[in-house]
Amino acid sequence: MNVSPETTLPSPLILTLDMHGVPNRWVNWQHACFYYAKNLVAWDAGQHRFVFHGGMNRLTGERSRIVTNSIIAIKGKAFAGTSFNIVPPLNNRELFHRDRHMCGYCGGDFSSVRLTRDHIVPISQGGRDIWMNVVTACRACNQKKSGRTPEQAGMMLLYTPYIPNKAEYLILSNRQILADQMDFLARHVNANSRWRHG
Ligand SMILES: [Zn+2]
Repeated sequence: MNVSPETTLPSPLILTLDMHGVPNRWVNWQHACFYYAKNLVAWDAGQHRFVFHGGMNRLTGERSRIVTNSIIAIKGKAFAGTSFNIVPPLNNRELFHRDRHMCGYCGGDFSSVRLTRDHIVPISQGGRDIWMNVVTACRACNQKKSGRTPEQAGMMLLYTPYIPNKAEYLILSNRQILADQMDFLARHVNANSRWRHG
């Protein structure tokens, strides 16, 4: 593995995996250092490592330092096989990201402030607030569609909704994802994800 020269960067998030290499969650560097200190890091898989300096040792005069890799597998049963297939929580930021900030009705690209969560089957008609019943819509389209289904409103959906899997959710939920972490997660993303095809 090629590991880049040690860098001291402002707090990247570290991607943790279970012992099988299945993506688990993001942790901050303090948490990653805890895993290293407790000898709970089984192996690492990232291209980056980050050095964190702690306090000075009074006896030796040396500063403590911990190096953490950008992707680490954590030992222990607690992680094995947990929650990879659990449906990630629905929120607007990840929804807009899933749909690449494209309105599902007019196809326009918008910034988050101009987007809304549209319930394909409206709540008022028994629709649920779940990944499979929501798409990103611009304010104008959402207003036009109002409390109607696309059929009732005569509006066609440009893409079909889907449930992001855990790996995709991890991609969607980190704003400062590193290239090696992105590569790793992309390999675990569902075939139907728009993130798989760039
Ligand atoms: Zn629109």
